[in-house]
Amino acid sequence: MRRPMVAGNWKMNGDKALVQQLLGHFKSNIRAENADVVIFAPYPFLYQAEELLSASGIEWGAQNFYIEASGAFTGEVSLGMLKEFGCKYALVGHSERRTLFGETDEMCAAKVKAALGAGVIPVLCVGETLEQRESGVTEDVVGQQVKAVLELVGAEGIGQSVIAYEPVWAIGTGKTATPQQAQDVHAYIRKVVAEQNAEVAEKIQILYGGSVNASTAEELFAMTDIDGGLVGGASLKADDFVTICKAAE
Ligand code: PEP
Repeated sequence: MRRPMVAGNWKMNGDKALVQQLLGHFKSNIRAENADVVIFAPYPFLYQAEELLSASGIEWGAQNFYIEASGAFTGEVSLGMLKEFGCKYALVGHSERRTLFGETDEMCAAKVKAALGAGVIPVLCVGETLEQRESGVTEDVVGQQVKAVLELVGAEGIGQSVIAYEPVWAIGTGKTATPQQAQDVHAYIRKVVAEQNAEVAEKIQILYGGSVNASTAEELFAMTDIDGGLVGGASLKADDFVTICKAAE
């Protein structure tokens, strides 16, 4: 049995007051006993996350990082810095990083390797655009995104990571993939990993992301290969995120 996970990606949203309010609400209403719960907060709020979530059972992490340990990389943040603020997880290759900031499969693979080396669990995001889905190359695209990482870190490395399948056309659009559409791609991802190591494929948590909300979560999470969700917009709505976490338990 894989342990479910629900992760909230706040993207570049929020302020100190909202962080205080949301994390206070999550702390009081989410038990995180039967599912892993993680909040990906913007860097400046990681200090607050550590203060408010320590000992709550809810984990926190960063939405990005740079692969080097230190040096002349103005504007970047290292994994060591994230660990100082108690981050257990970090996102890698979110579609907004890939499309707006030019992150390639190779850069994402290097990030997964760096995170594993630093003892931070990478949540590797993969997914196809609408154009790619409509031209029938979803499996090729997603398969290549996963294989690029497998080539660098092997099945053992992927086995210490989490994968999030996030069809780009479903992110922030209100268009959720149907449970069957998501299930098909999750099963395919598991198959790609199984070609390297069947045991790792069976154990790895694969989350679905793309307009998950309080009413769609339950039927998505009920699918065999969907182990929970990576939630953007709805993770900024206090009650909705609690409902989504409950749906995963
Ligand atoms: C995301 O940011 O990873 C995401 C899935 O966003 P949303 O839930 O808003 O589509």
